[in-house]
Amino acid sequence: MTERSPIMVTGGAGFIGSHACKALSEAGHLPVTLDNLSTGNREAVKWGPLVVADLQDTVAVQAALQAHKVDMVMHFAASAYVGESMANPALYYQNNVGGMTSLLAACTAAGVTKVILSSSCATYGIPERMPITEDTAQNPVNPYGRTKLICEQMLKDFESAHGIRHVALRYFNAAGADPDGELFECHDPETHLIPLALMAAAGQRGPLDVFGADYATRDGSCERDYIHVSDLARGHLQAVDYLNDGGESCALNLGSGQGHTVLEVLDAVRQATGVTVPYNMSPRRAGDPPALLADPSRAARVIGFEARCPDLIQIIRDAAPSFGLTPPMEETNARIPA
Ligand code: UDP
Repeated sequence: MTERSPIMVTGGAGFIGSHACKALSEAGHLPVTLDNLSTGNREAVKWGPLVVADLQDTVAVQAALQAHKVDMVMHFAASAYVGESMANPALYYQNNVGGMTSLLAACTAAGVTKVILSSSCATYGIPERMPITEDTAQNPVNPYGRTKLICEQMLKDFESAHGIRHVALRYFNAAGADPDGELFECHDPETHLIPLALMAAAGQRGPLDVFGADYATRDGSCERDYIHVSDLARGHLQAVDYLNDGGESCALNLGSGQGHTVLEVLDAVRQATGVTVPYNMSPRRAGDPPALLADPSRAARVIGFEARCPDLIQIIRDAAPSFGLTPPMEETNARIPA
């Protein structure tokens, strides 16, 4: 049966990839993780085989696709830090564009015709209007966003030449963690706001730097659209069904449609954990757009996507155990079923 076909998940040992593997497995698919474990965790690969290989090793990738009879690939394996991409663009072009080139060459050789790409709202740059629809011009302002845009364009070229149908999923800010506690949020190095805020609240690091107080937002700090990683994982599953049902190639925003500033996130961490996050106001971080907010209506229409957990405080509650924090007592009691 098509829906039980093995699906290769590059970067399946990483944060979003491992959550996608869980969702795939629960829906009856077999996730075949391909990961070089440079940043991923072997322990996060629980729902299918793990092939330890580098994406740039086209022969090894092709062999894995053929050995596992894969006809669809979900591509997560990439470098994904805006700040790092500004400081070290070569790494981003090598890993993200080089990796995509190798992967698509392997897919072509192995006869894979369906690809789901982890793309990003960073491909939009600094849009003039919010919320961002998929028709918004893509003018990325950092190397990370530029490499993701190139990957989207590569997919179109490979569709023209080799018939690879695809869905590019433009994520907004992935956050939270598996509500069942089977997977944790863990990056090394950690640069993302919510994990850093939780670490600061837990006393695992010093005060958080709030990057920029002079943006044209309601409180001067940057605004982002935080989406629960389990919602993102479900969006991938819906993209699988869409492609298996013969859907045309498309690009879709995956976001909650709700914006929160950095200072609002810090307050939500306080509400979720009962602990006040120590912070300092700091200069802007290079490459940061002031605001990014999704219009997720096309994803709703095309693949039936909706954020089931758009509540930021709940997203943070789900992430908190990754950092040894538990919700305040009254919240714990509130969650015990009557
Ligand atoms: N941010 C911050 N301090 C930090 C890390 C992040 O103020 O230590 C801000 C960052 O400038 C951005 C938002 O938090 O406006 C989200 O950043 P993150 O790195 O989590 O995701 P990005 O939006 O860059 O993908």
